[in-house]
This record gives sequence, C-alpha cells and structure tokens, in this order.
Amino acid sequence: MEGKQQNSFQKGCGMPDNATFMTNERWQAIINNDASYNHQFFYAVKSTRIFCKPSCKSRVPKKENVRIFLTAEQALQANFRPCKRCKPTNEELPDHEWIALVTEYIHNHFTKPLHLEALASIAHGSPYHLHRTFKKIKGITPAEYIQQVRLNAAKEYLTQTNKTITDISICVGIPNTPYFITLFKKQFGHTPAQYRKLQRFKRKKENQ
Ligand SMILES: [Zn+2]
Repeated sequence: MEGKQQNSFQKGCGMPDNATFMTNERWQAIINNDASYNHQFFYAVKSTRIFCKPSCKSRVPKKENVRIFLTAEQALQANFRPCKRCKPTNEELPDHEWIALVTEYIHNHFTKPLHLEALASIAHGSPYHLHRTFKKIKGITPAEYIQQVRLNAAKEYLTQTNKTITDISICVGIPNTPYFITLFKKQFGHTPAQYRKLQRFKRKKENQ
C-alpha cells in the first residue's frame, strides 16, 4: 500500500515537498550527463516540451527552463514528449510527432537564423536523421520548409502592412534583400513589389 501511494504521488502521501525541485545535485547530474541518476529523476525543458534522462547527451538547457519529474509518466502527463535521443520512456517517439515538434519550432522561430545543426540539436536528434525523417514526412527538406514559411510570411506582410521590402526581408529572416527578392520571384513568379501591387489592385477591384 505504501509503495502504491508513493507511485501515485498524491498530496499528503509522504513525498517531500521538494521532491520535484531542481537541486544543485540534480543540476550537476544534468550538466555531467550522469547516468547514475537515470532512475532517480527526469528533466523536461519548457521551451522545447521534451523530457530527458539525466544522462542525455543533448545540449544543456537553460536552468530556468528545466522542470524535474520523478517518473516518465508524470512528464508525459504534463504534456512533455520523450526525447528522441535518450528515449526516457524506452520507446521511439513516432516520426510524425517528432517532425510536428520541429515544424512548430520553425513556425515560432523563422524570423531568426535557423540551421539544420541547431534544429537537430534542439530536437535532440542528429542532423542526418532529422533531414531524412523530415523529408520522408513532409516531402521537402527542412531548409526548403523554412524557406516556404518565410516566403509565405512575406506575402502576409506585403498585403497586410506598408513595411518596405527591406524591412519585410529582415522580418521574415532573409535579411539579404536582393536574395530575398530573387527567392520570392522564383517561388511566386513576381517580385515582392509586383506582388504587392497586384494584390492591392485585386482588392480594389473586389471592393468596387
Ligand atoms: Zn534526451
């Protein structure tokens, strides 16, 4: 009975209040990828929604983003997903779920530089594996996907705002404006300025 109470981790069942707190000892275990702590706790990273074993070789997270859990089930219940690399639940995260995490990250961060290595590190996989899996699931490479997200965002800016083309190129994460214009034209058949004019003309006609 006592063991059951401990596992279900109910209030007032004898588990100390600080059981799920970050301690210096735990932080050291995380930094040092210390496998001897693997069955004592799990750590989740709020910014990526992924949780790991202490031994995970992935990039050390920011301490303030880390949440401690005593079991993998608790981390899952709190909507964290098992890391692809250290497999804290000892099973594979399905590929489509893993890629969904990556695309979500891209949509939230496309305004800044995004490289495959950084993306792979954030998603806790190797760049090679990420590239292959991404292409399998989405039909295009991560780099192509990022570019699509950026160019589609540019369309929004062009029709919804009066920002200059230079400002828009910076806003969508392609700060090299001539390059941005070339990419845009290649993708949509018009330069950004032409696209804006066309959209405004269309809208004017619609409102007439
Ligand atoms: Zn991990």
